[in-house]
Amino acid sequence: MGDIDKDAIRARAEEVEPKAGLVDEDFYRWATQAADDRDALLDRLAVAEERARELEATVQRVGAERDEARSLIGDLYDESECWYDHHGYCQAHGWTDTSLCPHRRAAIVLGLRGSDV
Ligand SMILES: [Zn+2]
Repeated sequence: MGDIDKDAIRARAEEVEPKAGLVDEDFYRWATQAADDRDALLDRLAVAEERARELEATVQRVGAERDEARSLIGDLYDESECWYDHHGYCQAHGWTDTSLCPHRRAAIVLGLRGSDV
């Protein structure tokens, strides 16, 4: 990236060097180092830009997946109230675990109800 015309640098060095009081060799070394540094920075910038594009694509994909998941949860969600038996199982939805019923969790995820249990 960033083709460096070292002949042009040398020509410019020969033109400017007498005015700057620099030795030709020093100026050429300084100028080519600056050009190499610029190339290295441009290479790093290209890598960073590519990474930014990849991250943006990931954000888009994850956002689409989130939207689809929310849509599916909404379609599968049963809005009838949970009711728990003495074991803590939700009898309304046949949830035989003592963790929060998935329909209650769906309501929370969808923002249909508060997060209170
Ligand atoms: Zn339930």
